[in-house]
Amino acid sequence: MSKEQENNKEQENNREQKNKGKNNKQIWIIASIAIILIVASAVLVYLMVGNNNEDDSKISYTDLIKKVSDGEVEKIEMTVGSTSVKVKLKDIEEEKNSIVPNTQAFIELIQEKVEQGIEIQLEQKQRNVLISISETLFTLLPTIMIVALFVLVFKMQGLGEKGKVYDDTTTKVKVKFDDVAGLEEEKQEMIETVQFLKEPEKFTKMGAKVPRGILLYGKPGTGKTLIAKAIAGEANVPFISMSGSEFIEMFAGLGASRVRKLFEKARKLAPCIVFIDEIDAIGSRRTSGSGAETENNQTLNQLLVEMDGFDTDETIIVLAATNRPEMLDKALLRPGRFDRQITIAVPDLKGREAILKIHAKDKKFAENVSLKSVAEDTAGFTGAELANILNEAAIVATVNEHELIEQSDLDEAVKKVTVGLQKTSRVISEKDKKLTAYHEAGHAIVSRYLETQEPVKEISIIPRGVAGGYTMYKTNEDKSYISKTEMQERLVALLGGRAAEKIALNDISTGASNDIEVATKIAKDMVTVYGMSDVVGTISINTEQDPYELQLLGEKYADAIGAEVKILLDNAYLKAQSILSAHMDKLHEVAETLLKQEVITEEQFDKFFE
Ligand code: ADP
Ligand code: ZN
Repeated sequence: MSKEQENNKEQENNREQKNKGKNNKQIWIIASIAIILIVASAVLVYLMVGNNNEDDSKISYTDLIKKVSDGEVEKIEMTVGSTSVKVKLKDIEEEKNSIVPNTQAFIELIQEKVEQGIEIQLEQKQRNVLISISETLFTLLPTIMIVALFVLVFKMQGLGEKGKVYDDTTTKVKVKFDDVAGLEEEKQEMIETVQFLKEPEKFTKMGAKVPRGILLYGKPGTGKTLIAKAIAGEANVPFISMSGSEFIEMFAGLGASRVRKLFEKARKLAPCIVFIDEIDAIGSRRTSGSGAETENNQTLNQLLVEMDGFDTDETIIVLAATNRPEMLDKALLRPGRFDRQITIAVPDLKGREAILKIHAKDKKFAENVSLKSVAEDTAGFTGAELANILNEAAIVATVNEHELIEQSDLDEAVKKVTVGLQKTSRVISEKDKKLTAYHEAGHAIVSRYLETQEPVKEISIIPRGVAGGYTMYKTNEDKSYISKTEMQERLVALLGGRAAEKIALNDISTGASNDIEVATKIAKDMVTVYGMSDVVGTISINTEQDPYELQLLGEKYADAIGAEVKILLDNAYLKAQSILSAHMDKLHEVAETLLKQEVITEEQFDKFFE
């Protein structure tokens, strides 16, 4: 029930989550080991204590001595090496347990009593092997736990294994500029870097200072790592890489020491490239906070120290990548550090075709296949996503038992990546189908009557991924700016699904939740990011990461923002409803056709409006 772009975003989120997953995994390992140890010790304690202490069968040491002196005790059973004893009293059938503080002294005491003429049997037994093992374990448990934890932590830090001091990868890479498609200007900018790595003397003789730090801004998958590798490949120098998230350590000081070691290694291998992915993880604005933040600060400070300390004869180029430039500490951008910044944008139509061509090299395609048409359908896609589409197409072709990858396989792959996998097996009730049909028809018809919205490419009520159906739009045009009107109309199109459910079926469903979520995000951005509200004004307020920003402006502003967001959404919903009520006949026609044939193509949709 959503547009292609939203799915792209989803994929991006997924990828981010995957990155986080790595850290989570380590935390999980520690947590599970801790839990296992705690449970094990609890069980042992239960076993041991449970063995000895059944409440009314217990007898205190003082009582025991008294009863021994009074001659009430028939027999005492002791286990070597254990302080717990079994006591058989003369007048009671069952045995009682007791703990003696000092076994030797106790034995002497009993002997004394026997000498005094008191009748009492003392029996000493070898201890049960199982109990003795568990007892030993129990006493050793805290030690075992601590040792295990240390081993684990050191393993994670990579300090436990010889030679694996930190998790970087050093490789002579084979990637060349030819393997990077679409980023022509960016490659051009990097040529001087390559020359510097090859012949640094030439530059130093001239007295030229070549930038040592280059910051690459761009979404994940846009080829930042690829271009950094290509520089190393072109210059034929080692490529040392590490991800910023790996610097974030649990123990203070380790992040900084890793940075130090990374650069120690770089100095040994120079000339070389150091690539730091996700630099925002260490390079976010320094704060005066405590705990994790100070740790962060130390790591960042160390990085700055290392970069400031480059000698003129050390040929090291540091490339760093981030998709959150706004988070970076300004100190990173000062001269001598990352003083060159290059934005790696998502590829345009030509770039997409070029990237597809590169990744198509190792695959077999039918003759009539047009990569250009795939490029046309994938505005906003990153290089990684395009590579993924071709891989999916190869899988689809294999499943369909095609000799070569056909256009239909490619189209299916695009849909698979954008809207999710087609779910033919899921049985859908007639009621659900009808609801989905009206919902999707609503999106399509509302956008048809909105000037700025893209033409409909396909409407479907065949479930894909989590969506019960979808409306796909043509997105041929690559644009860099979105106007306010366009955003407002986007809200109307998004709420068109919900409006159709209400108008045609007089009921509303959960199927619109994603639409509403996306619409709310857009409305909020319009007010707090793009300064599109007259009431709130031309101001940027970070409502998500920094709640203080909102507080700074005062309650009145917070109220105004809330009201403006609500007004935008309410107006959009009203507009969607009014468009639909004016074209009820079309709504019914499209929805009924959808129910009949499940999919409506671009041409079929246009026919409704002739
Ligand atoms: P980033 O570092 O920006 O997250 P990567 O460089 O890791 O992205 O890109 C991931 C993969 O996507 C690359 O290994 C490559 O297969 C593909 N890719 C991305 N951009 C391009 C491009 N411009 N040309 C060719 N392949 C690309
Ligand atoms: Zn929808």
